[in-house]
Amino acid sequence: MIRPLIISLSCLLLAQCQSQESTNTSARGESTRPKNIILLIGDGMGVTQVTSRFYYGEGEPNFSRFPYVGLIKTSSSREKITDSAAGATAFSAGQKTYNGAIGVKDDSTSVETITELVSDELSTGMIATSSIVHATPASFYAHVPARSQYEDIAAQLTTSSIDFFAGGGTQFFAERTDGLNYLDSLADHGFTIDTTQLQQPENFSMERKYGFLLAPDGMPRMLDGRGDFLPQATQMALDYLSQDEDGFFLMVEGSQIDWGGHANDAEYIIEEVKDFDKTLGVALDFAERDGNTLVVVTADHETGGFALSSGDNYNNLVGTFSTGGHTPDLIPVFAYGPGAELFAGIYENTGIYDKMIEASGWKKNDSSVASR
Ligand code: MG
Ligand code: ZN
Repeated sequence: MIRPLIISLSCLLLAQCQSQESTNTSARGESTRPKNIILLIGDGMGVTQVTSRFYYGEGEPNFSRFPYVGLIKTSSSREKITDSAAGATAFSAGQKTYNGAIGVKDDSTSVETITELVSDELSTGMIATSSIVHATPASFYAHVPARSQYEDIAAQLTTSSIDFFAGGGTQFFAERTDGLNYLDSLADHGFTIDTTQLQQPENFSMERKYGFLLAPDGMPRMLDGRGDFLPQATQMALDYLSQDEDGFFLMVEGSQIDWGGHANDAEYIIEEVKDFDKTLGVALDFAERDGNTLVVVTADHETGGFALSSGDNYNNLVGTFSTGGHTPDLIPVFAYGPGAELFAGIYENTGIYDKMIEASGWKKNDSSVASR
């Protein structure tokens, strides 16, 4: 794709120029800048976790549909091995910070996140199979010095710029140590909240904001019958957010790939990766139809030192582990759509944020997004 850098000479001489808008559109009418970005994070998903989808599950993996692949370096500001809070803050704000930090810099001061950057113009969504106040989603809308401040994070969600969310975590809103009911607070701030099922509300329009809180803490494991929550919530978010003509930012997390790694449970990992790959299909199908959507897939770190080793023979794969924690492995990045080529190469995890901004042109200019 062509990325015009300057107004052409003929444009200057002939005064037949179309609007500036035309410089963002290729000859085939496809945008060279994405209007929408979908960032999908497989928590704890290293190369072996991705590899598992190529040996388990039906059909060709959706991972195969991405034309551009890169690798990121994931160390946090103080630690060689990152946690999910520092890892997600690198993606949400382009900021290296310490392990445990949610939307704050290494000095604990707040840093603007991408959902805040675009909130005046675009719509935003968050989906996770953990609780919605867990480190990865929290780092996109909250600012606290420690990831364990779940109740503070829940309070910040009510006043955040998020328009759609789905995941677990009712206990942090409704059964709090301070006795406050933040489900009521969410309603006061324009949210329609469902704590019973993932079902599309009537009059599903941008007039309202929507939240689905479907478990006390994390959602059930795939092995325990979570079903199609993640792909269905992603489809629902896309149906909702794509109503915004100015565009949207959506973060989708396969949270429990990490938990399978901590448990050193290969079957847990494999089932969670299959579910995540199915969700990639939902995002890619939307992006293919839409033509103006950048899809980026990556992970905060690898978990478990997971390997697929030979068992009795070379055709018998056995999951093995070198740790119950995280590792400093380089992490794969997959990209599709306008600007996807920027994501090739090897770079820091903060580059995910930088490249999303470079691709989209989303920039702060006073209180509005400059390119819109
Ligand atoms: Mg996570
Ligand atoms: Zn972890």
